[in-house]
Amino acid sequence: MSIYALALFFLLPVVSFWLFPHVNNIDYISFASEFIMAVTVLVCIVNLKNFQKSERSNQILYVGFSILLVAIYVDALDELFIFPKVITIVIEDIFQILGLLLIVFGIKLWLEKQEAQNNSLIKLATTDPLTGVFTRRYFIDKATEKLSESNPRFCILMLDIDHFKKINDKYGHNVGDLALVEFCSLMEKNLRDSDLFARWGGEEFIVMLPHIALSSAADKAESLRSKLAESKIQLPDAEFTMTVSIGVVEFNPVTPKLETLIDIADQRLYKAKQQGRNQVVSN
Ligand code: GH3
Ligand code: MG
Ligand code: MG
Repeated sequence: MSIYALALFFLLPVVSFWLFPHVNNIDYISFASEFIMAVTVLVCIVNLKNFQKSERSNQILYVGFSILLVAIYVDALDELFIFPKVITIVIEDIFQILGLLLIVFGIKLWLEKQEAQNNSLIKLATTDPLTGVFTRRYFIDKATEKLSESNPRFCILMLDIDHFKKINDKYGHNVGDLALVEFCSLMEKNLRDSDLFARWGGEEFIVMLPHIALSSAADKAESLRSKLAESKIQLPDAEFTMTVSIGVVEFNPVTPKLETLIDIADQRLYKAKQQGRNQVVSN
């Protein structure tokens, strides 16, 4: 497409040379500045060809820059040739306004598209594709940020669904997947927006509860546990209940490392499993 712009760039002066009278006292400074502006717009058009042609924003930008090129180039040639008034009004003035409006509109569309693409990339990088909850990596990043605060206060819950393998064995892996989705949706319904909930791996999940003491975090964990135990997971091909074991730990300035906190939560989760599952251990 930019070949047309290049052709126009060479054809316009040749056509003008034959059709219109020449100016006697040429203002070379005006001609040079307007010519440089026209070349700049031409460079924009040539560079636009590196972007996807099918995109609406690029098509609008291409048309806008092309109209602007004609307007500015005719403005430059106006220093060399005497154009009729109608050409200077229509092509220089109206085309300039039209070209600029299209460019502004094209840029707006392009920015909107970029933002949507960025958002979907961020979502892809930070959420688990099956359940839609945050990934382990995202959790670690956010928890590390929290730890760098001047006086952090939070608790961590480590959750592991009990006997999940049996659900897979009995109903199949697809039902197991749907059960994980249901589990996450129940958790999200019962957590606050400020709580950070993520899939740690497999059927293991993690929650960070900010601004909360150990006893309140243990109460919260107990409430989550009992809500799950009392809920029936109703799926098209299966109906069953699930239980979860939870280990709870509170941030302590003596053990400020995230790995240490997670280790302690893991040990308590293991204790909950050892003691018979479907329970919360916080010490
Ligand atoms: P426990 O109470 O000791 O935690 O027993 P469990 O059966 O839950 O634990 P185990 O570690 O023996 O098995 C975990 C199972 O979770 C095995 C694995 O196939 C299943 N699992 C992990 N991720 C997924 C998943 O994304 N989808 C499905 N359907 N199953 C998964
Ligand atoms: Mg398990
Ligand atoms: Mg497990």
